Amino acid sequence: MTVRTLDTLPLHPGARVLVRCDFNVPLHEGVIADDGRIRAALPTLRELLGRGAVVIAASHLGRPKGQVVPELSLAPVAARLGELLDLPVPLLALDEAPDRIDRAAPGSVFLLENLRFSPAETSAEEPVRRVFAQQLADLADAVVSDGFGVVHREQASCFDLERLRPSAAGRLVCAELSASERLLNHPERPYTVVLGGSKVSDKLGVIRNLLPQIDRLLIGGGMAFTFLAAMGSRIGASLCEPSRIDDCLEVLRSAEAQGVEVLVPTDIRTATEVTAEAAASIVPVTDIESGPGGDAAIGLDIGPETEARFAEAIRSSRTVFWNGPMGMFELPAFASGTLAIARALRDCTGFTMVGGGDSAAAVRQAGFSESDFSHISTGGGASLELLEGKALPGLTVLGWSL
Ligand code: AMP
Repeated sequence: MTVRTLDTLPLHPGARVLVRCDFNVPLHEGVIADDGRIRAALPTLRELLGRGAVVIAASHLGRPKGQVVPELSLAPVAARLGELLDLPVPLLALDEAPDRIDRAAPGSVFLLENLRFSPAETSAEEPVRRVFAQQLADLADAVVSDGFGVVHREQASCFDLERLRPSAAGRLVCAELSASERLLNHPERPYTVVLGGSKVSDKLGVIRNLLPQIDRLLIGGGMAFTFLAAMGSRIGASLCEPSRIDDCLEVLRSAEAQGVEVLVPTDIRTATEVTAEAAASIVPVTDIESGPGGDAAIGLDIGPETEARFAEAIRSSRTVFWNGPMGMFELPAFASGTLAIARALRDCTGFTMVGGGDSAAAVRQAGFSESDFSHISTGGGASLELLEGKALPGLTVLGWSL
């Protein structure tokens, strides 16, 4: 892969550099629940500050849909970023930004207010986005794209803006690309891909693109039930995408033809209702049809036998990519499978990557740390699309090619 890096930017002391970050952190009542995404931006920000730049960080937060939503202000992020950098980080509305930035000393840092307070940021109309991108470009001499979570989006700050100024990928985007590169090009084998989460449809692209290189495909989570239905199992009231059954069959045929071992659950934790109080029953996969009272059973996690089989396959691999929880991990009774997979990745001595989104949130919530894995991606959708082999607009604009 090639991409323009920070080293290619001609930066004189005092140069104004706008850094598109992904500070879309989980907030609970105004308090940041996980600052992982802010920490992930620090190497780039520190490097630019060390080079005497005036840094203007920018990000979105949540989905304010083009309106100013006070609860989605980046104020808590500005405060946390200030603590981590040990510098004041003023939060700037766009209209006050030019004046404040022009008066700033080298080594100063600012944060722009939530980019998605402007409807133009995510507009489908290029001319509309372009006017907003120009407003951002006017603040800066150079642009750094370091919000990996948004590089698959064609949006003003992560696509149009990068075309208006000298631009480069930040250190986080480079680290994400090099981790994905290990999964795409000549991975050490055995190579195992573990997929879960709710929807088969979200994962078909990545399965098809990776199948020719991998040795094992492990399927859990809600998406496993469409595969199980395709294989002729009764799945009770579990999640299913009937319109994807043919795709699952095609994946199974093509895996067999390419010598890829596909592991699906052999036992399941079920309940007859999805509530925090629901107790799990462990049943063989051939017996999910009905629950104890005759109500339809819902498969909500993989069972202990499946955990052990999956864990063994993972531990004996040299490369592992995991995306998507094995069950409804938000409910403690159905978190066991996801935790077992996280432990197996931690114990694996090969290269292990946790895709972003829910699997990354699950491992952090469970107290695993960054050092337990080779790489935890900060972007769920972006890392999947990259592994699907798609050309991502926010990377193409930085000169990236596979
Ligand atoms: P995704 O957004 O596709 O990665 O899916 C993540 C979501 O899938 C999480 O919120 C999980 O609770 C949910 N999930 C995982 N396994 C199941 C399951 N067996 N039934 C219903 N939801 C599930």
